[in-house]
Amino acid sequence: MSYPITLIPGDGIGPEVTGATRKCVDALDVDIAWDVHTAGETAYEQEGELLPAHTVEAIKKNKVALKGPITTPVGKGFRSINVTIRQMFDLFVCLRPVKSLRIPGVPFHDVDLVVMRENTEDLYSGVEFEAGSDEAEKLISTMNGMSRAQIRQGSALSIKPISRYASARIAKFACEYALKNKRKKVTCIHKANIMKCSDGLFLRTFMDVAKSYEEKIIVKDAIVDNLSMQLVKRPGHFDILVLPNLYGDIVSDLAAGLIGGLGLAAGANIGDEIAVFEPTHGSAPKYAGKNKVNPAATIFSAVLMLKHLGEYEKAVQLENATREVIEEGKSVTYDLKDDRDDPSAVSTDEMAQAICEKIKSKASA
Ligand code: NAD
Repeated sequence: MSYPITLIPGDGIGPEVTGATRKCVDALDVDIAWDVHTAGETAYEQEGELLPAHTVEAIKKNKVALKGPITTPVGKGFRSINVTIRQMFDLFVCLRPVKSLRIPGVPFHDVDLVVMRENTEDLYSGVEFEAGSDEAEKLISTMNGMSRAQIRQGSALSIKPISRYASARIAKFACEYALKNKRKKVTCIHKANIMKCSDGLFLRTFMDVAKSYEEKIIVKDAIVDNLSMQLVKRPGHFDILVLPNLYGDIVSDLAAGLIGGLGLAAGANIGDEIAVFEPTHGSAPKYAGKNKVNPAATIFSAVLMLKHLGEYEKAVQLENATREVIEEGKSVTYDLKDDRDDPSAVSTDEMAQAICEKIKSKASA
């Protein structure tokens, strides 16, 4: 069976890590028809558009995409194309599993976590008002008339909407995922002690949904600051974490750090019809074009993609080959060495090549 997959190389290190991943997936002899499209700064430079219509059409048509990271300017400029894609296709879950590998200098060996981030609302909704704008001033006056708590005139505003609808569907997805993947515990992460309305609704809805699963899975909740401390002390204590968008983003990077860094952390954005697989890391512009960074996060994202396609055996083959190359520690990039200046570190391409050889040697064994 042939699978048409939209491949978006993205910006910065994106073309290098997606190129390396494509080679590794092709080494599995799975029949994938790569349909390559542009997005982000690269698309803007080449075509004058950040998210060209042909890319949107390809994502819709092929239903599955593998995407490299896309650069977003900080504090100014265009809105994130990553967030736009997630919202446009209603990819409501961002799934980011992290599992310990034996790597020098990484203290934890029992991490096996799945971070599940609600992807469509919260402070990422894009409803923002510039400080001093007419809209912000009007909104501040209206809200000051409605609330005991007062907002300083001249403030900038970013709105945090949380709905029962979106909270319920991520809660259900998490509980169903736990059952399907034989996971034991689902923990809802929030700051409902302070944000009683928005995070309070997220927590209450989660508990309502999770109630009917309590005989089969352990259901817990934790406040996000406390979770952060617990995670760096005893990460093995946690299993599936369900979080609103912003905490999910931050805790994903924290979780990546527990297993050896962003070079290892995979991701999947999943909706009812469409799924876009991408590493947790960004476009790391300072490494762009250096053939230096770790391709594993994107390769592990392709593992999630193959599982999503139903190619379970191929997914396990790719995952095992990648884990073995990493744990052998010979053909790995600088970030997986004890000393980051270790001259024996290999390039992105060489690490991908080692993974391809591992796949082939196992297939012929
Ligand atoms: P980043 O993840 O790009 O990089 C931070 C640091 O992590 C790098 O300097 C590097 O030391 C390390 N790193 C990242 N990927 C690595 C890899 N594959 N191998 C080895 N080390 C790796 O984060 P940033 O610098 O905050 O963001 C850069 C740009 O990426 C920004 O424009 C940001 O908006 C964007 N971004 C995009 C996505 C996405 O496309 N989904 C996600 C996060 C950030």
